[in-house]
Amino acid sequence: MTKLRLAIVGAGPAGIYAADILLKAERNFEVSIDLFDHLPAPYGLVRYGVAPDHPRIKGIITALRDVLDRGDIRVFGNVRFGVDITMDDLKTHYNAVIFATGAVRDADLKIPGIDLAGSYGAARFVSWFDGHPDYPRTWPLEARQVAVIGNGNVALDVTRMLAKHADDLLPTEIPANVYEGLQASAVTDVHVFGRRGPTSVKFTPLELRELGELPDVDIVVYDEDFDYDDAARDAVASNKQVFVIDKVLNKWRERPAGTASRRLHLHFFAKPVEIADDGTGRVGAIRYERTRPDGHGGVVGTGEIRELPIQAVYRAVGYFGSPLPGVPFDKKRGVIPNREGQVLWKGEPGSGSASANQQLYGVYATGWIKRGPVGLIGHTKSDAMETVRHLINDLGNWWHPAEPSEESVLSMLDERGIEYTNLDGWHRLDQHELALGAAEGRARIKVVPREDMIAVSRREPASVPTK
Ligand SMILES: Cc1cc2nc3c(=O)[nH]c(=O)nc-3n(C[C@H](O)[C@H](O)[C@H](O)COP(=O)(O)OP(=O)(O)OC[C@H]3O[C@@H](n4cnc5c(N)ncnc54)[C@H](O)[C@@H]3O)c2cc1C
Repeated sequence: MTKLRLAIVGAGPAGIYAADILLKAERNFEVSIDLFDHLPAPYGLVRYGVAPDHPRIKGIITALRDVLDRGDIRVFGNVRFGVDITMDDLKTHYNAVIFATGAVRDADLKIPGIDLAGSYGAARFVSWFDGHPDYPRTWPLEARQVAVIGNGNVALDVTRMLAKHADDLLPTEIPANVYEGLQASAVTDVHVFGRRGPTSVKFTPLELRELGELPDVDIVVYDEDFDYDDAARDAVASNKQVFVIDKVLNKWRERPAGTASRRLHLHFFAKPVEIADDGTGRVGAIRYERTRPDGHGGVVGTGEIRELPIQAVYRAVGYFGSPLPGVPFDKKRGVIPNREGQVLWKGEPGSGSASANQQLYGVYATGWIKRGPVGLIGHTKSDAMETVRHLINDLGNWWHPAEPSEESVLSMLDERGIEYTNLDGWHRLDQHELALGAAEGRARIKVVPREDMIAVSRREPASVPTK
């Protein structure tokens, strides 16, 4: 019987769902899957993106772990594609590869002053508060007035984490260094900016409502932002989600002014145009143009420029994928070019196929690196179904590896001295983190430094952290 030796690069939800769907699919060949991730622990953005105070979403890890615990997928953590293993290695050992490497970088926002000291990308802040091993352990939180640019759920996560008191995060799995950092935060006012109106936001109602429930944080909304045009009124009448969002915001308008020690301001029809220097090269103010509805659901600038003093700004305007060595990449969209998950490439000039997009046989993509960084974890499942369907149907075009045995991959990694982690290692790290948390009455305390994660996973107790 034919056997498919498959490499999946990226152990986030997209990679794990792809493996699961393939293993359960009707097919007339055997399957053996190796799942690689450059982090020592699996689950991608579920572990390192979803906010720590969203335990219900973090709970998706349980379902993903059940897939891995079945035992029919080999997991190799701490192995970076492009550094530790290359495309040539994959072709030597496998019949095909699925890239599920997601997106971790911040998309650019091209306004003057965005590179000043005190200006941050949301993705970096998220990586810090979720204890990503490759980011600094400390985060500057001296600013009293902070701006967050963006009207999506990541902007809400960043806003909430900035405004929430550290003690209210203590029961969650935030790492010890993050709790200490947030406890010292000087913030009093967080200003959220969206260039469109309240009926055009990309927040989901549940996440928006949550802002209004933060202890000792007052929500401030401005009456001038609620002068709706017909398009906005239609949106409220015809779209359930917009209806609920409008209702939540209007309830906040009716609240009497509060006395909380922190405030969270929502500014709509406010398009940031410049971050002003405080005279020392640091963020000193945000300049924004007041916009108004254009009558068709969009906005136009009014020419009125306003200024608000701030000492830090976070842009939450989207994530962006990163190129992988030897793999085609669409620089504009930040994705691997593909047709329903089959990776495409443009033939080299002179090869007789310069203009057409052709299928790059044996190479597939799924998740955020396939589709772009939008959508929820659940969407990566339907993504994976589509990709796996093509992989199965393409049987005649798979690679023919020179060394297809499972042992040959272990030898390659060992010969290169790569300290890979496996599923047992992840269980050890998981148990260790839960035990650290239990000792302090918390859900979990994440181990942050990469070397400590590896030491715990590989049973090297000398370096095991106790905090
Ligand atoms: C801040 C934030 C909050 C979110 N909150 C929610 C939420 O509440 N609910 C919800 O449903 N969705 C949420 N999402 C969306 C959700 O995280 C994504 O839909 C999902 O994680 C995308 O899955 P993925 O597997 O494509 O990518 P990822 O989860 O990013 O996984 C990609 C994996 O590939 C690995 N990788 C990357 N490059 C390499 C390489 N060179 N070699 C080896 N491995 C590599 C990474 O380490 C990672 O483990 C949130 C996203 C963000 C950014």
